[in-house]
Amino acid sequence: MKSEELFKRSLDLVPGGVHSPVRSFKGLGRTPIFMEKGAGAYITDVEDKSYIDFCMSFGPLILGHCHKKVAEDVKKAIGKGWSFGTCERYSLELAEHIIERIPYVEQIRFVNSGTEAVMTALRLARGVTGKSKIIKFNGCYHGHTDSMLIKAGSGLAQMSEASSKGVPESLANDTIVLELNDEQALIEVIEKHGNQIAAVIVEPLPANNGLLVQTDSFLVSLRKLTKNNDILLIFDEVISGFRVGMGGMAEKLSIRPDIITYGKIIGGGFPVGAIAASKEIMSHLAPLGGVYQAGTLSANPLAMVAGLSTLKELNDDLYFKIEQETSVIVEIFRKYFAQNESYSKLKVINYASLFWIYPSDSEEPIRSIDLIPNDLGKHFEGLFMDFLDKGIYLSPNAYEVGFVSSAHDSNIINDLREKLENGK
Ligand SMILES: *Cc1c(COP(=O)(O)O)cnc(C)c1O
Repeated sequence: MKSEELFKRSLDLVPGGVHSPVRSFKGLGRTPIFMEKGAGAYITDVEDKSYIDFCMSFGPLILGHCHKKVAEDVKKAIGKGWSFGTCERYSLELAEHIIERIPYVEQIRFVNSGTEAVMTALRLARGVTGKSKIIKFNGCYHGHTDSMLIKAGSGLAQMSEASSKGVPESLANDTIVLELNDEQALIEVIEKHGNQIAAVIVEPLPANNGLLVQTDSFLVSLRKLTKNNDILLIFDEVISGFRVGMGGMAEKLSIRPDIITYGKIIGGGFPVGAIAASKEIMSHLAPLGGVYQAGTLSANPLAMVAGLSTLKELNDDLYFKIEQETSVIVEIFRKYFAQNESYSKLKVINYASLFWIYPSDSEEPIRSIDLIPNDLGKHFEGLFMDFLDKGIYLSPNAYEVGFVSSAHDSNIINDLREKLENGK
């Protein structure tokens, strides 16, 4: 009842009652749940009901809620002030930590969100190359900057159109949208428009419209084709960075992108994004170069401390542990689905500590958005409500992936087993 009351108040104050559309529980047959607090792998709502959290703030909280060391470090920092608008040591330490560990990151600039990072990366790519067109892929999400809210047109081949009202159609002319996993289309477009294309941007592990794991060979071809045609390759690692390993997908695939964007984990749950590249490319950013970029709260000291404190906890052993726990959790889900007639079509795919639940008759992984079944939402609604009831919180949208943190340990796994086995 309390959540419903709060949502009613919120509807009057905020469009749709939310500050980001996915929070509205649209299509899920109930109003959003208001959360009060989090601890480890659990979140607790305003009615004091606790859930095992598999949303984890959509990715940033790889150490779980209220991690002790991160909280301590932030508390220590807050006593010294929380914004100066000047140079400070905190961002220096975070930058050094990242640059020491990721060989293809020579310089980095911090911003406040993934969207801002992508916006700057695109401007930088255009500034460096002097070209204007960008290739993006259907099914990859790059935040809500105008030039990324473009979809493939329904009519003439290779004509794009805005996917949101308020985005000028003129921008669609400069964004070419291709299907993931379609190398031939990429070759053809580069042959035709290569000399006008500044960059190709891709989520190397697409995880915003389901988990559309790409083949290594597609991503390797992408690197070759861009390099041979003087096109910059932007890896949007806002989700995959520091999630699939310290060096993200670039390290996992041994592919060196020209520009990388980070977000989510890099701020440990505080608002941080980043653009990273070689010194040569980064020298085009102001004040050194002519590509303008700025931010009043960029490299906010508290956010820098939370990010550094989080990254310092991450190492190969911890990644291995989280991935093992993810595999066990996914097996528990599979077993539950196998035992319930209404879930018999559900499959679970996992990669590192990410998972996605979707209906399919085939064992073949889905690699492009056109292959996602139309009845995805219908299948998800029942499952989401069933899980909520049992005290398990999934990201509230069928296309969102699930996130596992280091806090999802054996105690949590036992609790999950109990919730699903006793629950029918
Ligand atoms: C979340 C996300 C963004 C946008 O980041 P915000 O911080 O929400 O603006 C961009 N790209 C990818 C791949 C993301 O997952």
